[in-house]
Amino acid sequence: MTEGWLLGGKPDEQIPERRKPRPQQPAVETNAEPAGGEIVWRCVVCGYLCARKEPPAVCPICKAKKDRFEEFGKILVTEKKPDPPKAT
Ligand SMILES: [Zn+2]
Repeated sequence: MTEGWLLGGKPDEQIPERRKPRPQQPAVETNAEPAGGEIVWRCVVCGYLCARKEPPAVCPICKAKKDRFEEFGKILVTEKKPDPPKAT
């Protein structure tokens, strides 16, 4: 806490918002493979979803071929951070 702030009488409300709401953007560029990430594939026939590097050769649900799978999204693998120590 700085005394100067109190003496200056500058109210906290004057702090401008720095975080502006961003429009929704994809987390990764569409033509860039995420490092270590996996792709979510969706069977267009039955809607089966699986996350892996490549779609399965045959859909385990409806037996549709690999080419019936479309890219549904990507999974970003982020490093797991250890839980911060709880200060109680
Ligand atoms: Zn299927």
